[in-house]
Amino acid sequence: MRTERKTRSKFLRVKCMDCENEQIVFDHASTSVKCAVCGRTLVEPRGGKAEIKSEIVEVFE
Ligand SMILES: [Zn+2]
Repeated sequence: MRTERKTRSKFLRVKCMDCENEQIVFDHASTSVKCAVCGRTLVEPRGGKAEIKSEIVEVFE
């Protein structure tokens, strides 16, 4: 179970929904992050907490 702590930045391990590549992203990314393998957008900046556009596998506190 994950508890949401307000505006605390975290690193996330996400899995690309197209090619299943896993990579580490920052949840407050200020630029979009693309999959290193297929180029699908994984994270989009939202002026603060980024929008995660892929499956979150693990959260690093
Ligand atoms: Zn991919």
